[in-house]
Amino acid sequence: MEVSLEEMNLELKVPFTIARGTTEVSHNLLCTVRADGIEGYGESAPSSFYGEDQQSVKSVLEEIIEQLPDDLLPVHHIISEFLFEYPQARAAICALDVSLYDLLGKRLNAPLYRIFALDPSHTPLTSFTIGISAPDDMVKYAKEAAKTYPILKIKLGTKKILGEDYDIEVIERIRKETEVTLRVDANCAWQLDEAAEKIPILLGYDVEFFEQPFPPENLDDFRFLKERCPDALIFADESCVVPKDIPDIAPFVDGINIKLAKCGGITEAIRMIHTARSHNLLVMLGCMVESSCLITAAAQISPLADYADLDGNLLCRNDPFKGVTVEDGKLILPERPGLGILRVTR
Ligand SMILES: [Mg+2]
Repeated sequence: MEVSLEEMNLELKVPFTIARGTTEVSHNLLCTVRADGIEGYGESAPSSFYGEDQQSVKSVLEEIIEQLPDDLLPVHHIISEFLFEYPQARAAICALDVSLYDLLGKRLNAPLYRIFALDPSHTPLTSFTIGISAPDDMVKYAKEAAKTYPILKIKLGTKKILGEDYDIEVIERIRKETEVTLRVDANCAWQLDEAAEKIPILLGYDVEFFEQPFPPENLDDFRFLKERCPDALIFADESCVVPKDIPDIAPFVDGINIKLAKCGGITEAIRMIHTARSHNLLVMLGCMVESSCLITAAAQISPLADYADLDGNLLCRNDPFKGVTVEDGKLILPERPGLGILRVTR
């Protein structure tokens, strides 16, 4: 058994901006596990918001790899122990978790959806994300994307980036151009009064749901928002990183956005899905800027979710893998074993 780590720097087709800032290159890490002549791939998409970067992920993975048992089984047990021991290294552990599941699937000659007893025809539609840019550009990009994708997720919190608040104007103008489903993600940028004012107006433009209006520390704002806007569906993302975050936020939101890179991989994502269901929450599977490696990993378990936002690979210019594809928004899983991904460039 041998594990290797490679830097995987994903270039964005257009700079991707959310209320916190802009990404032009996402510095990810590829983890390859080799055993019995088979290779399993996994990916880490570290986020500075959660205190990780390419170097920190690499060094913690080097330490973890030294402790791997020879048979690499059972995967969920190995991964749970590392998550317990390294609770701050979730993006790093995600890469190992996914590579071990890819290897397992290939050893058993079965796609992961079958290993998890899921129906591949039950994948949700994915949204396509429109980042923050000048309002004219956001409208133009949305109009263009709406030709291919039936659901758009629009990043708001425009004031943080543009200096002036175009949140309402952008949605109003996009709605004039297209009838596709619109979702909104403020990435923690709003204040309570601001959200309570904007959300009823945006509901008038038929916005389906609102993701993470407030910073995670402002838990009370979520509570008051639920009282002031009882008709709006609210999703938590940054407020909900690991399973134990769920009970606190559950009374004040309708759903959570689970990401493999945020929680630590497939093992922990499935645990979060079960925890969310036990709190009667809707489940969305989301992503960072990721190659088709990590996007396909999430897509493999997406029949467990109600919603998907798995478009990180579509934003990249140099995705080194082919895996899940999208047809009219629908996630189409490959039938090959494991993740079912193929490496197209070295
Ligand atoms: Mg989000």
